[in-house]
Amino acid sequence: MKFSSFARCLRELESTASRKEMVGILAELLKRSSEEEVGKICYLCLGRLAPVYRSVEFNVAEKTMLKVLSFSFGVREDEVRSRYKKLGDLGSVAELLRGEYRGAGRGGDLEVAEVYNELLRIARDSGAGSQERKVHSLAALLRKLSPLGVRYCARIPLGQLRLGFSDVTLIEALAVMVGGGKEEVKFIRQKFNIRPDVGEIVRVIKLHGLEGLKEVGVEIGTPILPALAERMPTMEKIVEKLGEFAVEPKMDGIRLQIHLNKAVNGQPLVDSLESQRELFNEQGSKKESPGALVCIFSRRLDDVTDMFPDVVAAVQKLPVDSAIMDGEAIAYNPDTEEFLPFQETMKRKRKYNVAQKAAELPLKVFLFDLLFLNGKSLLETAFGERRRLLEKLVLDGNLLMAARHTKVNSARKLKKLFDLYISEGLEGVMCKRLDSPYQAGARNFNWVKYKRSAEGVGLPDTVDGLVMGYYAGRGQRAKFGVGAFLAGVFNPQKDRFETIAKVGTGLTDDQWREFSRRVGPLEVKAKPAEYCVAKELECDAWLRPGLVVEIDADEVTCSPVHTAARGLNIVRTGAENGAGLSLRFPRLVRFRDKLPEEATTVEEIMEMYRMQQT
Ligand code: ATP
Repeated sequence: MKFSSFARCLRELESTASRKEMVGILAELLKRSSEEEVGKICYLCLGRLAPVYRSVEFNVAEKTMLKVLSFSFGVREDEVRSRYKKLGDLGSVAELLRGEYRGAGRGGDLEVAEVYNELLRIARDSGAGSQERKVHSLAALLRKLSPLGVRYCARIPLGQLRLGFSDVTLIEALAVMVGGGKEEVKFIRQKFNIRPDVGEIVRVIKLHGLEGLKEVGVEIGTPILPALAERMPTMEKIVEKLGEFAVEPKMDGIRLQIHLNKAVNGQPLVDSLESQRELFNEQGSKKESPGALVCIFSRRLDDVTDMFPDVVAAVQKLPVDSAIMDGEAIAYNPDTEEFLPFQETMKRKRKYNVAQKAAELPLKVFLFDLLFLNGKSLLETAFGERRRLLEKLVLDGNLLMAARHTKVNSARKLKKLFDLYISEGLEGVMCKRLDSPYQAGARNFNWVKYKRSAEGVGLPDTVDGLVMGYYAGRGQRAKFGVGAFLAGVFNPQKDRFETIAKVGTGLTDDQWREFSRRVGPLEVKAKPAEYCVAKELECDAWLRPGLVVEIDADEVTCSPVHTAARGLNIVRTGAENGAGLSLRFPRLVRFRDKLPEEATTVEEIMEMYRMQQT
C-alpha cells in the first residue's frame, strides 16, 4: 500500500468521532493490506513502531522536529516556529510546508513498509552524532512523501499520532475484518491478553484466519497482561463470595513479571524470541547472557530488565529450564530488616546509576504466582496447584522469596491476618480463589484486594484517573500556571475517557511543579477525540492521554456534569436519568506509572458507587 493511500485513511479516522465508523474504516484498511505490511500498518495507526513492551524510542523532541522541517523544506527555523504557534500542531505545519515546497529531493510517494522501515532505522540510530543523523534522515524521508503523508509521518517521532482510539478499537476492527461479532472480539481480546502485540495477532489472522489464532499461546519474552483484583466493602462479604481462599499480604512495591529461559547445551530451551528478534534486533537480543535469558516487565509492560541486575542474577540461578513468575519487588533496609515506602522502591526504576542504586536500595521480590514452567503454560492450572509449584522452585530466600500465603475460611481469621500485615507497615491483604485459573488482563473476583484505606470512611479504594486537561491558576497558583485539572476514567466499551473529577487539592508546591513539568509535552491544541467532556468543564489547556494520577475522595456521587458512566444503567438508587458519576472532594495522592487505558474503568466506578449504597 502506498503511504499516501494510508494517509487518506488516517485522515478519515481523524475526522470522525463515531467509533462505529472508526471500526469500519480500520477493518477496511486491514483487509486491503498485504500480509507483509499489515502488522506495520497496525503499529503506525497507533503512532508506534512496535508493541508497547518493545520500547522503540525516537528521542525526537519538538525542538528537533522544528529543525527537521526547516532543513527538509528550506524554510527558516523561526518561520517554522511561528507557523507552529499559529497552528498548534507540527503535523499540519509539515503538511503546509511540503505543499509549498518546490525544491530538490521531492518524491511522489513511498510504500508504507518503506516508511516504516526507515522510521525504525532512524529510531534505532543511537550514539555519537545520532541526533544530527536523525534530523537529516527524517528531513529526507518527509520530502519523499505527499503533503498529507507528511502530516502523519511527522507526528510519529514526536509521539503525537493519536487518532482517538487504542488497541481496543483495533481489536474490534480485526473481528469485523473476518466478518465476526462480539464472540470473535472476545476471543481475539483473550489472545491479546497473553500476546499483547496487535501487529503479530493481525499477521496470524491474515495468514491462518481465526483458526490460526487458536495456536497462539504464552511465549517466553512476551509479557502477559497482569491479572487484576476486584474490591469488596467488608471482610464478611469477601468470605461470603470466596468461601475458602488464600490470603497474602498486599505489598506496596513494583509489580514485576519475570521471564526466564535457560539454555540447555548452548541452545535456548524455548526458542520463541526469534520473530521478535528479526524485527527489533537490538532490543531483542541484548539481554542474552551465556546461560540464561531473563526479561523483566513492569505492570504496564515496559521492559525493565536493565533496571534490576540483582534480580536478573538471582533468577538465573533458579534450577528450572524456563519460567514466568509474577511478583512484587520492595526495597528494604538490611540493617533494620524493614520495608521501605513505595517512593523509595520507585527510585530503583531508573536508566542511569543502576548499580549504585541497587547497592543503596536492596530489594526483596515476593513471588506470588507462577504462570509458565519448563516449557508449559500454567494459566489454566488452578491457583492452589500453581502455588504448590511455586513453593518447589527453591527460591534463594534472600532476594527471591514466595509471598506468605495462608488458607482462610472465616472473617475472623482474615481480620487477624489483615491486622498483622498492617502492623508490619504493609498495605492490606490480597484474597485469592484457590481453584481459579490465571486470567490475564482480567479484573474479577478471583482476586480481591482489601486495603487499609477500605477500613475507614471514604472510597473503598483510590481511583487512577487520566489527566485530560487543566485550568489556569489564579492567585497563589498562578506561579505554577495550573489551578486545577480535569480527571477521567476509561470506558473500554467505547474506547473513550469520561470525566470524573476536577481536582485542585492535595498537591504540594513541589507536586504542582512536577505536574507542570509532566503536562508540558502532552499539551495539544484541541480536545482529543476520545474525550467525553461536558461544555461546563472545558479546559484552558487540553492534554493528550499520557498522565495517570492516583486520586482519593470522600465518595462517588451522581453528577449532572461529569460524563463517567453516563447513559449506563448505573443505579438502583434515586440517580437522575442522564446523570454521570463523580468524586466528592477529590485530592491527588500521587503520580502513577500507568498507561492511559489502565486508568480506573467506568465499571469499577459503578461498582464502588454500588458498594457505598449497601
Ligand atoms: P491494579 O493493579 O489492580 O490496577 P493498582 O495499580 O491501583 O491496581 P492496587 O489496587 O494497590 O494497585 O493493587 C494491585 C497491585 O498490588 C498489584 O498490581 C500488585 O502490584 C500489588 N500486589 C501486592 N501484593 C500482591 C499479592 N500478594 N498478590 C497480587 N498482587 C499484589
